[in-house]
Parts: sequence; structure tokens; C-alpha cells
Amino acid sequence: MRISQRIEKLPPYPFVEITRKINQKRAEGVDVITFAIGDPDIPTPKHVMDSLHAAADEPANHRYPESDGLPELRRAIAGWYQRRFGVDLDPDKEVLPLIGSKEGIANMAFAMIDAGDVALVPDPGYPAYHMGTMFAGGETHYMPLLQENNFLPDFSAIPDGVARRAKVMWLNYPNAPTAAVAEVSFFEEAVRYAKKYDIAICHDNAYSEVAFDGDRPISFLEAEGARDVGIEFHSLSKSFNMTGWRIGMAVGNEALINALFKVKSYIDSGINQAIQRMAITALEGPQDAIEEHNKIYQRRRDILVEALRACGLRVEVPKASLYIWASVPAGYTAAEFAARLIDDIAVVVTPGNNFGPSGEGFIRLSITTPDERVEEGARRLVEWSKTAK
Ligand SMILES: *Cc1c(COP(=O)(O)O)cnc(C)c1O
Repeated sequence: MRISQRIEKLPPYPFVEITRKINQKRAEGVDVITFAIGDPDIPTPKHVMDSLHAAADEPANHRYPESDGLPELRRAIAGWYQRRFGVDLDPDKEVLPLIGSKEGIANMAFAMIDAGDVALVPDPGYPAYHMGTMFAGGETHYMPLLQENNFLPDFSAIPDGVARRAKVMWLNYPNAPTAAVAEVSFFEEAVRYAKKYDIAICHDNAYSEVAFDGDRPISFLEAEGARDVGIEFHSLSKSFNMTGWRIGMAVGNEALINALFKVKSYIDSGINQAIQRMAITALEGPQDAIEEHNKIYQRRRDILVEALRACGLRVEVPKASLYIWASVPAGYTAAEFAARLIDDIAVVVTPGNNFGPSGEGFIRLSITTPDERVEEGARRLVEWSKTAK
């Protein structure tokens, strides 16, 4: 058998490696605390689960779904965007349900990228932007997200020749892994840049609902002219603790939505309709769970930020997202420091360079670990800071 070059050359998906390490430690009987993966530990809200149970029994939901989703779901998505962001969408032309936003992000590359085309990708960033580009035969040009620029890309640093070859720019605010947020003025600058070079913008807004201290992150589509050049990916995963159910959406520019729909219509056969019913319930029902969950995350954030600072790490208090992004102490690489924490205190964090070369020097902690494990992890970190050399 000869596996394709594109697969043979791939390193394992970063989290596959971390999961393997965790399992190995646990098999040795070690009590491992992991802050590695952003996967909400809190269950899906009860009223959303109730709608799944009812929908599962309906024979209409046992058959192939339509590739572009139930019209009721597209309308629910448009309604939610209107209430939440004040953005009006045509549910039949500007909304496309997805099997989780990761699916749409990866498939978007096939809609946009031909061999040799360039995608502008944030570094560090969610791995699917770069990998989707690579699968489609394109080239990634990394836009470094630097602390001194508040983890926003510097468009003036992109060489003119690269910008001319670029077809797509990926953006993601609230950002993973850096937890940075963006203002509408930044999105408007991105739109002007995209218009100048004829680039499509794909904004990943997976974390708009996970925010703290009363903050309300915005949609890219609130920016002037955004819909002329771009789409936004969103997801029920982090907003409604529905990672396991796999449902998200792309919204915005009609031509881009249509191109992604074409790709998907040949690859998948839509989203399980009972899960579409859950999404409708989540989007149209009470939104209280979001606030409740954010309170839980905020408390964990505060506990961990304090413990990390006690260990000599430089950390900004995140305003949004499920992550804490911390600079490792001098003398360590990110991987060395992460390895030290696993070996000394069985605490797992993700080395920042897993998300791209500019993540070197940082570690990422996810706050999706249950409260008592967060408290125990923080206790171990503080204890370690007193003894470790
Ligand atoms: C979690 C996450 C997603 C994907 O979520 P889905 O579960 O596939 O909807 C997309 N982007 C970022 C940055 C994420 O962290």
C-alpha cells in the first residue's frame, strides 16, 4: 500500500499526541490533571437535550437530511444573529449549517484554494486553517500574532507579492489560543485590506459567547463592508456546550456560502436532523446557560491566573475564550516547560508552538476542567513554585 504524500508527511494532530501521553501516565497509575484540551466539561443544557429525545423518535428524522440543513434551522440561525449581533441574514442565501465549524473550516479550503494559491493564516492558530490549505494544495503564509500588537496580525508586514497571490485570510477573535479580542475597527481594517488585494476573509467566531466580566464579543459581520468580502464560522460547540453533537454554521457573503455548499454537497449528506432540532432549541430558547457557564469559567480563570503568576509566568487575564495564554519562565522552551509540569506534578498544558511557530515561549491552559480539578491543579502549581528549581 502506498499512502498519499500529503498524509505521509503530516505530523499527528497535536492533541492526538497529548492524549496519548495522558493515557500513558494514567495507565501508570498517576493522577493526571489536564488543562490541554478545550472541550466544555459542563453538560448540554437540559431543555436542549429534551428536544433531542423528542426528535430522535420522529421517523422524519431517520432519513437523509438535506445538505443545506432544515429551513427552520437556517431561520433560527438568522434570528439568533439578528438578536445577538444586530446582523440581518437571508436564511436561504447567507446561512449554511455545518457538521461543527471545524468541518466547514477544513472544507472551505477546497472552495477557495487551487494548487499554489496562498492562504493567510494566523500564527499561532487553530490547526485546521493551515491543514485545510495544505490538503487543497495551497500554501500557508503565517501572520504572526505578537504580544506587542495585542495578538492582532500586522497587515503591513505581509509582503505585497504574497498578498497578491493570497485568496483567503483566516481570522479568529476571540482568539484561540491567545484569548485576545478584536474591536470592530480592526475588522474594518481587515476588510479594507481584503478589498485592496481581492482576498476573502473567513472569520472564526467560535468563542463569541464565552466571555467574562460582562464583555460581549462582536461578530465580524458587524464591520462595515464585511459581507462584501467575507463569511463567519460559528458553532454551537462552545456557546451551548454541544461539542459532542457536532453542529455549527457559516454565515455571510452569498458567493462564499454557495461555494462551500457546493463542496459539502459532494462530501457529506447533511447534519443528523435530531441534532438540527437541538440547535434550533438552543438558538431560539432561553440563553441563561451562557451566563451561568461563563461565571463558572471566570472563577476557574481567576484561580489559574493567580497560580501561574505564583510560578513566575507572565499572564494577561483573558477577557474571552476558554484559554489562558502564559509566557513560560526564562530558560525554558514551551515544550520543555510543559514536559516539566507533566513530570513534576502531573499537570498537562499545551506548548504554544503546537499552534504555530510564534506560539513558542507560551503555554496554553484550557478552563474546561472541572472545578475541583482546577483547584487541585492550582494547588500543585503553587506548591511546585516553592520547591522547583
Ligand atoms: C473549538 C473550535 C472550533 C471548532 O468547533 P466545532 O466543534 O468544530 O464547531 C473552531 N475554531 C476554534 C478556534 C475552536 O477552538
